[in-house]
Amino acid sequence: MTEYDAIIVGAGVIGLSTAYHIKRQNRNLRILVVDKYSAAGQGSTAKSMSAFRCLFSSPINYILSDSSVDFYNHVQTKLGVDLKLFFIGYLWLLGEEDFAEMASILKELAAKSLKYREYEAEELAKLLGLNIRLGGDEEAELMGLKDVYKGIFIPKAGIIDADCIVKFYEEEFLRLGGEIHYGVKVQDLIVEACKPIGIVGEPFFWQEARVSGVKTDSGIVKAKKTILAAGAWIPQLLDGVGIECFIKPKKRQVFAVEAKNPLLRRLLFIKGFNSVGCLPFTILPKPRVLIRPFPTEGVFWLSYADDFPRAFKLEDDPQPEKNFYQYGIYQVLVKYFPQFKDCRPYSAFAGLYEINTLDGHPVIFEERDLIVVGGASGSGIMKADAIGRIAAALYNGDEYALLYGGRKFRVSDLSIKERRVEPEELQI
Ligand SMILES: Cc1cc2nc3c(=O)[nH]c(=O)nc-3n(C[C@H](O)[C@H](O)[C@H](O)COP(=O)(O)OP(=O)(O)OC[C@H]3O[C@@H](n4cnc5c(N)ncnc54)[C@H](O)[C@@H]3O)c2cc1C
Repeated sequence: MTEYDAIIVGAGVIGLSTAYHIKRQNRNLRILVVDKYSAAGQGSTAKSMSAFRCLFSSPINYILSDSSVDFYNHVQTKLGVDLKLFFIGYLWLLGEEDFAEMASILKELAAKSLKYREYEAEELAKLLGLNIRLGGDEEAELMGLKDVYKGIFIPKAGIIDADCIVKFYEEEFLRLGGEIHYGVKVQDLIVEACKPIGIVGEPFFWQEARVSGVKTDSGIVKAKKTILAAGAWIPQLLDGVGIECFIKPKKRQVFAVEAKNPLLRRLLFIKGFNSVGCLPFTILPKPRVLIRPFPTEGVFWLSYADDFPRAFKLEDDPQPEKNFYQYGIYQVLVKYFPQFKDCRPYSAFAGLYEINTLDGHPVIFEERDLIVVGGASGSGIMKADAIGRIAAALYNGDEYALLYGGRKFRVSDLSIKERRVEPEELQI
């Protein structure tokens, strides 16, 4: 049986970025990617809203996202691969208390020359037809909705097509001689003694053991290193060998509403924020309902990342819930943007966040020839290039990874045992 130098489980954006960066640096090695689906990026990557921002309070979040976005921009503008990347910006609408909380963080970020622009609520009301005063509205009061006090616009932010990123990594990996087998489901990790002695029942607890490959529904694959990039499914495979990764799955839902009437079209194609001439990715005051414009389709994607009591639950085919829109998102949205009155979604989808329950940052570590890479916690598209480079550096045994643009990143900072991350204060 041939032994691969590495097998990567998962052909999502993280697995393929990792595969590409390992292969790019090790042209002669045999690297195999497997995925249970019949094509690349069909897990959470396909369910993503594919938005990005380069403004975070945590230096790690910032560098992961900023360097990845710089790379995607390079791929699009210098390599001529259309990733449908548009810098449309993020517009964060804030109540007075939220703004007060955020002001000191923003001041610190401005001192580091991170760019943003502050908008007065009245200016936004005029520009967007936004309802900024909800006082006196009984329903709004019942829902605890707050007046809009200010808006923060982040210019280095926008939208991209996750499928195009995945195709780019897949094609480059294959061009370099990498192998991919689709429709192959990994059932278990194989554990063997490092020095087998040929007795049934090995490895015994007194033997040193390692992960030596995977058992799949189409046979066994052995590898010097096994790389688990299976997104929300990572713990399913890790639990079987008793390794903790602090990743848990949580359902997230997206509802698509067409900009059918003139008021919605005016909102979608609003001028003045970006060169595309469209609404920025917009975040409402708490509860933070998200509006992701899709200008090329004439559509808004609407979402909300609910927490308590949304269960941690692994589902292969999570479904959107009609009531989540009707009695949730819609009720909040229409108070701020009356243009959406009576709008119903024409389609919807749901996927899984792979949440790192320690601190919401990705997890990249190695144990017994098994590398785990994932837990991007709902921001894996915008950080995938950096994550792939760090996982490749771990594979190569390097202390530092070189991110796009030349910034160095200490690999162990995202491990479990020597983890060094600061909490993210600009959470959406
Ligand atoms: C609704 C929603 C909106 C989002 N919006 C954004 C956003 O705007 N911006 C952003 O940056 N991120 C966003 N995300 C998060 C982003 O999509 C994820 O962080 C990212 O896709 C994770 O990539 P991955 O490769 O780790 O996981 P996946 O894409 O899930 O890939 C894992 C792969 O592993 C495979 N696999 C699993 N188990 C096995 C097995 N046993 N055998 C073989 N193969 C297996 C799966 O088939 C899958 O293809 C969003 C996610 C959701 C659900």
